[in-house]
Amino acid sequence: MAAPHASDHSARAAPPTLLLFDIDGTILKSGGAGMRAMYRVAERMFGEDHKWDGINPAGNLDPQIFAEFVALNRIERGHDHHQRFHDHYVDELRREFEASHHLVRVMPGIHEVFTLLHHRARHRGDVVLGLLTGNYTRAVPIKLGAVGVDVSWFTVTAYGDEGRTRPDLMPVALHKFHRLTGLPADRRRVIVIGDTPRDVECAHAHGCVALAVATGGHGVEELTAAGADVVVRDLADPSPLLALIDRA
Ligand SMILES: [Mg+2]
Repeated sequence: MAAPHASDHSARAAPPTLLLFDIDGTILKSGGAGMRAMYRVAERMFGEDHKWDGINPAGNLDPQIFAEFVALNRIERGHDHHQRFHDHYVDELRREFEASHHLVRVMPGIHEVFTLLHHRARHRGDVVLGLLTGNYTRAVPIKLGAVGVDVSWFTVTAYGDEGRTRPDLMPVALHKFHRLTGLPADRRRVIVIGDTPRDVECAHAHGCVALAVATGGHGVEELTAAGADVVVRDLADPSPLLALIDRA
């Protein structure tokens, strides 16, 4: 199915609601495959004797994780190594996902909610499915493919190599939304769905709505304390998300 053309939306009174899903901890859990791939590539490039202490991958951007690694280990001209790190990481991630596919798990309700929202995007046109994730662009199809989620369903995307911080990714997504629909996004109709306080922060930094899911490493209480507009245990029951869409 081709992405809707601008004219499909511009005749509507209000812009469609943009749903920006995070990947790790929200759509799937890889059983640590991503970080194992990073450790292995870093070890191959820089030797065994390196630290990762204090580097928190949850809600972080892949290039930023690398930047923190080179800073922590005082690797000179770290940026010069980034492209090679990226290329090796993508290869290693693919191998890691193949080798440990039995550890990769899709989060409850994800397939059902995506099927429902994809159908709604195609037939009612009042929602646009998107991704906002810290993953490198080339890592995304590897991860989503591992759990049978079709990347082409997501017509607005902002990935880890398109900004320096997670909040930087929101203008990228909003720009792509405008290009797709011909309409500027109404930020009260932009919902970030993620599993970390960083997802909440990213949404609120731009006046958008945050729905937090407690399927990653952060519990309901922590995500509530982080200020999420709605917190759910998981998306097995999609009604809180659907209510948020209809309220928007
Ligand atoms: Mg996440």
